[in-house]
Parts: sequence; C-alpha cells; structure tokens
Amino acid sequence: MSRIVIVSNRLPVTVKKVKDKLTYQQSVGGLATGMSSFQKDYQCLWVGWPGISREQLSAEEKSDLFEKMEQMGNYAVLLSQSQIEDYYNGFSNKTIWSLFHCFTQFTVYDNHLWESYRQVNQIFCQTILDIIKPNDILWIHDYHLMLLPNLLRKRLPNLSIGFFLHIPFPPTEIFRLLPWRREILEGLMGADLIGFHTYDYVRNFLDSILRLRGYENSLGHVNYQNRMIKVDSFPMGIDFDRYFYSTDQEETKNEIQKIRQQVSHNKIIISVDRLDYTKGIPERLKAFSTFLEDNPEYWEKVTMILVAVPSRTDVPQYQNLKKQVDEMIGYINGKFGKLGWSPILYLYRSIPFHELAALYYTADIALITPLKDGMNLIAKEYIATKKDATGVLILSEMAGAGNEMSEALIVNPNNCTQISWAIKYALNMDDKEQLKRILSMQKRLKTYDVKKWSEDFKENLIKIKNTQKSLSAKFLSPKNRLKIIKKYKQSNQRLFLIDYDGTLAPKYYKFKQYEPSPEIIHTINLLIHDPKNKVVIVSGREKNLLEEWFQSTQVDLIAEHGAWLKKDSNEWKTIEPLKKEWKEQIKPILEVYTNRTPGSFIQEKEYSLVWHYVNTDPTFGRTRAMELMDSLTYLTSNLNLEVIHGEKVIEIKTTGINKGLAAYQWISEKNWDFILAIGDDWSDEPTFSHLPASAYSIKVGPGISTSKYNIQSSTEVRAFLKELALKYKSTKQMD
Ligand code: UDP
Repeated sequence: MSRIVIVSNRLPVTVKKVKDKLTYQQSVGGLATGMSSFQKDYQCLWVGWPGISREQLSAEEKSDLFEKMEQMGNYAVLLSQSQIEDYYNGFSNKTIWSLFHCFTQFTVYDNHLWESYRQVNQIFCQTILDIIKPNDILWIHDYHLMLLPNLLRKRLPNLSIGFFLHIPFPPTEIFRLLPWRREILEGLMGADLIGFHTYDYVRNFLDSILRLRGYENSLGHVNYQNRMIKVDSFPMGIDFDRYFYSTDQEETKNEIQKIRQQVSHNKIIISVDRLDYTKGIPERLKAFSTFLEDNPEYWEKVTMILVAVPSRTDVPQYQNLKKQVDEMIGYINGKFGKLGWSPILYLYRSIPFHELAALYYTADIALITPLKDGMNLIAKEYIATKKDATGVLILSEMAGAGNEMSEALIVNPNNCTQISWAIKYALNMDDKEQLKRILSMQKRLKTYDVKKWSEDFKENLIKIKNTQKSLSAKFLSPKNRLKIIKKYKQSNQRLFLIDYDGTLAPKYYKFKQYEPSPEIIHTINLLIHDPKNKVVIVSGREKNLLEEWFQSTQVDLIAEHGAWLKKDSNEWKTIEPLKKEWKEQIKPILEVYTNRTPGSFIQEKEYSLVWHYVNTDPTFGRTRAMELMDSLTYLTSNLNLEVIHGEKVIEIKTTGINKGLAAYQWISEKNWDFILAIGDDWSDEPTFSHLPASAYSIKVGPGISTSKYNIQSSTEVRAFLKELALKYKSTKQMD
C-alpha cells in the first residue's frame, strides 16, 4: 500500500502535561477530516509538532510520546521553547502572517527570527529524511514550512511533493518587501504542485516568480530547473455532512433551545472568529453600531452574539485588539442597551461543536467581514448547518470564500454604511429568497467538500508527477544515445540541422548577444571536417550577423527563421520571391506600442519585423503583447502575413516562411542515411515535423515537443556533437 505523508506545523493531536502526566487530545479540525479520506487507499502518516516543548519532556516521556504518536499514525517533531518562540510566534506569525494578509504595519523583519525559521524547516527536513520511503507522496501544509519543499528536493530529487498555502499569497508589491523573498519563492518551488485557495493568490504567486525570479508560466505550469511544476487553486471545503446533520443530534437540539430562551424572539446576528486583526472585528462593530443608530426600529429586536476565540494572546497587537473590542462592545451596549436587552452578547472563548452548530442554525444572519482571509471556513459552516432553515450570510469580498459564495450578500469590510445596509436588507429578505440562496450554496459545498478537496489535490499531484515522468522519459537516455552513435558510425551521408540560440549557445537573456564561443566554432568545425557530414545552422538571427559569426567555418546557414538560405558558400537566396512592402504598413503600429511600452524595441529583418519585450516590466510587457497580438491578427488578415508570439517576441513575417520549409531544401537534396535536428523552441518545431521518420530530433529543455528526444542543456548538445565527431572520425577525414 502506498503511503501519504502529511506535514504541518501542528499535529492533529495536542499533547499537554497535566499534573506531571502527559495527556493527548485529538483534534477534529477540517484538515484532519480531509486527510482521513486517504485512509482507504493509502497508509497515512502525519508529521508535525505536538504542541509541547522539548524542555517539558524527560527522556522517558519523550519515548512514551513517540510510541503513543506512532500508534495514532503520527510522527512528532520536537522543538525547543526558543524555537517555538522565534520560528512560530516570531517569523511565522509576526512576519509571514501579517505580511501575507497585507498588514505591513505589523510586519517584523528580524534576521534572528528568520534564522530560527530556517533552522526549524531544516529540522522538519531531517525528520522527514529519516522516515521517508521512495514512493511516498508528501503533502506539506502552510506558511510555517515554506522552505521545506526545496530542502527536501535537494536531497530527494524524485520525491512527489505537494504544498498548500492556507493563507493568502499577497500581491508582488507587498511580497517583495520581504528581505527573504527569494529564499521563500525558491523554497516553495521545490514542490511539484503548489496549491492556493483562490485564483487571485495563484496569480499573485505567478506574478511574483515572474517579476522577482524571472520564471514564466504557461497555464500555471512553470519550468523550474528542468522540472515542470504546477500552480493551481483548490478552494478548501468543509466536512459538509458533519454540519448538515448536526441538528439531528440531541446535544445540538438542546443548545438550540438554550439560545432561543436566552434571546427570546429577537433576530440573531452571529459573528464568530478568532480574535485576530485580519478578521475586521472593530470595523464590524462600527458597522453594527451604525445600523442601530440609523434604524432605531430594530432596537430590542436584534441581538448580535459575538464569539471571539482567544488567539496569540501574548502578542501586543492581539492584546491591543482585545482591549479595543472590549471597549467597543461596552460602548455599544451602554449606548443602545435597555433593561432586559443588550445589543451584543459577548463570548470571549472557544465554544464546543454542538454550541457552535446551534448558533449557526439559529442565527438569522452571519456577519463575516474579515479585512483579509485566505478562505474563511465559518462562512461555509454556517451555510452547511442550515438544514431546512433560513438565514442570510453577509460576507466580505476579502475572504477567499467570497469567490465561491456569490449568493451571499457580498460587502466591503471597510464600508460600514454598506454593511449596515446589508444587515437591514438581510433582515427583510423573504424566506423563499433565503432558502433559494442557501440551497444553491449548499449544492456547491456538498460537492466540493473537504474530502473532495484533498482527493483533488492528491490527484493533481499524481498527474503532474506523471507529466514529469513522461517528459523525462523522452530525455536522451544512455541507451538511445548509443543507438544514435551507432547509426552515425554506420552512415555515410549525414545531415545536421542545428538551431543556434538556446541550442548551440545558451539561451539569450535580456537580448544579450551570445556570439559563438571558440568552443562552439570548434565543435562545428569538428563536424564539418568529416566529409560525410553536412552541417546547417538554422537560426532566427539576421543573415549578415550569422555570416560574420560563422565566416571561419564552412557551415551552411538558414537565417531569419527560414527567409534566407546560404548553401555551399554560395550567395544568400530566398526560397521564393518574398514581398516586403507590407512592412511599411505594420511598422507604425509597432512604433506606437514601442513608445507606450518602456524597454521594448523593434528589430527590422529583411523579410520580417520583430517586436521585442524582453526588457520590459514582465507583467506589463505581456499585457501589451496580448493587445498587440489582438491588433495584428485583425490587421494582417488580408496581407498574407503570419504573426508568431514567441519567447518575449512577436514576429510578423510572410506566411509560409519557417525553418522547416527552409530546412527541407537540404532534407530533400539527397538520400541522407543519418539526419539529426536539434532545437529549443517553437520556431524549431517545423524543422522537426519536416523530417523523415528515420531522422533523429532533439529538443533542448524539458518542454513539450514533437521531437523524439529531449536533452537538458546547450552544454550537453555540444558535448554530444563533439562525442560524435571525435569518436568516429571517418577514415577519409581531411585533416
Ligand atoms: N471554531 C471552533 N470553535 C469556536 C469558533 C470557531 O472550533 O469557538 C472553528 C470553526 O468551526 C472553523 C475554524 O474554527 O472551522 C475557523 O476557521 P476559519 O477558516 O474561519 O478561520 P481561521 O481561524 O483559520 O483564520
């Protein structure tokens, strides 16, 4: 049976020392339920911190703890008190939590805390290395362990690693404030699948890896160090049935009765959160106060039950927030309260499941208005509990859940007038409308519950791993390498069609000119000097530049993606008479885009025009490129032109010119008994598709291609070509 290893900061068990004895309390949180869905097909192991510091345990207690944990399917990572303080309370909560929720004013940048974060991620890594097996699937959770994927990847290159972030991923402008942004991004990219709650966070992450690290993506696929990784959104669900059927249970029914007695016939508004500054509790209280102020007819008719679960109570921001909330509730109750009616019933504690379910069930309105929230499960739980019951959800547009719950009344958490209005609107919504909205949300919550969510994530992890495998299966194996070498040895008429940038030379970056190094020229010469070999450089570069670069060799050339051909040291020629008058029509459009896009420039080739945006701001450049593609498609429709969107370039050329057609002039020339074509991008695909079945084609890099094989880098290309030329020099060699 395969194994799934879940890794999170906390285990789903809390260990405490009560009167010198260890107690174990299992939690029934959403994540644990989601993970339990794997139990039928997989052996499961959960790795994390058990909630007690190393100093609190004697040697004997430690071994008891490990034994007990093993029985429960867990593996404990023990941390010292100072590590918990600096890594968990410190870097995780004072740096990452605040920054990722866009509370930059609370974000602490402290090298000492960062060091501790690194150290604890390293401890998790070492623990996992001790227990991991080669075919395990690893799923790492949340912001405490963002370095872990890459730490593990370095040690176990083939391990299946998934990572899910349960909090928002901020826009690049915010994320880039982090002094350790590079390390965090690289840490995450060690995973094969990176999941977020919403597409907004996916977009922010992809934008950050592009702007800060230069990694492009194609539909969420990123080629990171020759490994294809996937970034996608998986909105976390809840244990729907647990909430939906909760009101069938006696304990919940009793709690419902108690609430009804307490608030008599008043309409109930609930507000349930951890007491955290991201939850927007003061803003919500202000909005409720505005509602009471503006609508005196609701006095003594509405009661807000506010549950604030204590959280991070030793952190000053949380202490200040508690004070502020206490004061505001006191002020509102004092101002509007009457004998026998307080507008707000305040519970500063965590409440047990049946009490919570009863609150959800009885509440006429759930007022959930976080200023920023990764998902917000309370909103989902409230709706799920409404079995044949009415209720209205007022939900902040800043909560991840807002994306999936469009039937809620969506509000801006900072707009107290709008929230006050929404409360009134909700109180007046007829039952039919309420039920209609609830049913429609319930349908989605039931379908994509937490089990489905975890299944979906795991399936996608397996899928990307399989994609990686099929891509790497095409990588030139030693066996296939030998096969090509053997064929080379036996053949007498050999044709080489070799692309330049990214194939013979490294991929150019920021339009740097990689003119051929002596090693490249040497490699070409080695091949050419064998009379059985014909070598053609197949490039997109301009003909004059190619001629200058390769004048010391006898190589044949294809320039400008097939517009120009140079054979056997003859003059340059085109395949057919090509038109270029169209350039005068298209150039002014490119000029407009160049003026409006700093860093972009036009390159004019004889039979094509190229708009380069490699030096622009990546996101802006890409948006402009999309706009330009749009305009060009329309303008070129009757000019017999082809518009190609390549790697940071848009190239416009006469239809029908491509490297493949040009290469065909050589391919069809004679009966070659060995053809090898090598290229690295879209422009080389036509060459591959013009080859006879017996030819060999190789793509540089891991991308998808019609080539027979892939190879890692241009360095390997040169090594392979040299190996061919040197090992099997033909007897009639000229020098
Ligand atoms: N919750 C709880 N006891 C309480 C109040 C809330 O166990 O007294 C649970 C609630 O059922 C929900 C979770 O706490 O599953 C809060 O999750 P959410 O995503 O809304 O917010 P977070 O605290 O993770 O930021």
